Amino acid sequence: AAVAEELIVPPVQISYTQHLIDGKFVDAASGKTFPTYDPRTAEVIAHVAEGDKEDIDRAVSAARKAFDEGPWPKMTPYERSRILLRFADLVEKHNDELAALETWNNGKPFEQSAKAEIPMLARLFRYYAGWADKIHGLTVPADGNHHVQTLHEPIGVAGQIIPWNFPLILFAWKVGPALACGNTIVLKTAEQTPLTALYAAKLFHEAGLPPGVLNIVSGFGPTVGAALASHMDVDKLAFTGSTETGKIVLELAARSNLKPVTLELGGKSPFIVCEDADVDKAVELAHFALFFNQGQCCCAGSRTYVHERVYDEFLEKAKARAMRRIVGDPFKQGTEQGPQIDSEQFQKVLRYIKAGIESDATLECGGERFGSKGYFVQPTVFSNVQDDMLIAKDEIFGPVQSILKFKHLDEVIRRANQTHYGLAAGVFTTNIDVANTLSRALRVGTVWVNCFDVFDAAIPFGGYKMSGIGREKGIYSLKNYLQVKAIVTPLRNPAW
Ligand code: ADP
Repeated sequence: AAVAEELIVPPVQISYTQHLIDGKFVDAASGKTFPTYDPRTAEVIAHVAEGDKEDIDRAVSAARKAFDEGPWPKMTPYERSRILLRFADLVEKHNDELAALETWNNGKPFEQSAKAEIPMLARLFRYYAGWADKIHGLTVPADGNHHVQTLHEPIGVAGQIIPWNFPLILFAWKVGPALACGNTIVLKTAEQTPLTALYAAKLFHEAGLPPGVLNIVSGFGPTVGAALASHMDVDKLAFTGSTETGKIVLELAARSNLKPVTLELGGKSPFIVCEDADVDKAVELAHFALFFNQGQCCCAGSRTYVHERVYDEFLEKAKARAMRRIVGDPFKQGTEQGPQIDSEQFQKVLRYIKAGIESDATLECGGERFGSKGYFVQPTVFSNVQDDMLIAKDEIFGPVQSILKFKHLDEVIRRANQTHYGLAAGVFTTNIDVANTLSRALRVGTVWVNCFDVFDAAIPFGGYKMSGIGREKGIYSLKNYLQVKAIVTPLRNPAW
């Protein structure tokens, strides 16, 4: 891998490490804290309040009070919309601090944080601000002499659990629709990345969000996460994370109060390079589809299927591209790949690489840690990968590209669909018939044709099969946070 130059100095300090409950930063009920790290060096950068069931109880009561007594659900939709817009303005104003904090705690390239993710955070909230005053029910022409209407009401207190790979983007996917629809929230951030959501929530209060509407409790899954998922006074649960944990929270929700659950889970997305493909472009896109965000994307194109006619050329160029990938300090200009998030993920990725080598796949490049400190992994490419190998079946969540060969379209459809996952797929072809056939045949929530990872606020995202339940973003995300009430009134004079 290549090496980056010049350091971009992060102008940031860590100001918020406590829970945010009822508009105030407070210590954990137990007084406990846990360390949070810089994945470049594995050094502790702050100690953060460590929540437990009692903190969740406090946060849920604050959210309940804010929902029942207002002013949030009683404000006009336009007033709520204005607060979301003011928040987006403040995000823009604090772009570089938010980006630096995100990179410091997560390890993703600063340029990605500053130029793409924080601007997207503002964009997502402006999108949802646009919905806030456009949510309304129907009048229904039912049989009989009745006037029938529906009200679309907020559900109440939303519990939201997010992971560490896109801390602020996923904050927006969860918080945006919930607030636009008038709900109140208790959010649990990932234990690896607790810092930026607290900073963002501070800005939200500066924008005029009333206390208790957005509460944040930091801490671990089996304690804080489980307490939230099983809380009797939480009306809705939204979760993003692994399929394994998704099953746990769905069960906790069912066993407690049957709160409806949306899940955005793992994936093993195929990226299909067809025989007509411009190989240089296909290589670049397939590389991006897998390596983006250190390979830590639930939708990563982690099974690169290449038609036999272009396979050899593709392989040679994919390997050369991976070897050119610039790995290093995410604060340096030009860095494409920073460290993995933590020791656990780092070890897991290295274990999968070992499994790949042992399974007779061909290691083309990489295969080891990069450097001697922090959690960096060399961009790694395997060829001759077979569908039944562990590296072709499991979600690796790291910079490991698996290249598989195919011959016929029917064959690649069958093989691409042969997985419990169904989050996304990439298709690379100039043949419209092939594009249409693949788009319809693939059992996934998103098909990117000649593009990948296009995440506009309006485009719905979510999984088929064990990749999840429900859709986030776009118009589809609103129904996760709304109840429909039918109101039926007899008509006094049926003639009119
Ligand atoms: P990952 O393996 O990527 O860390 P997880 O699914 O474990 O993915 O984590 C996603 C989120 O789910 C995190 O906020 C984590 O703390 C939370 N979590 C983990 N275990 C549980 C659990 N048993 N109950 C509720 N939330 C959990």
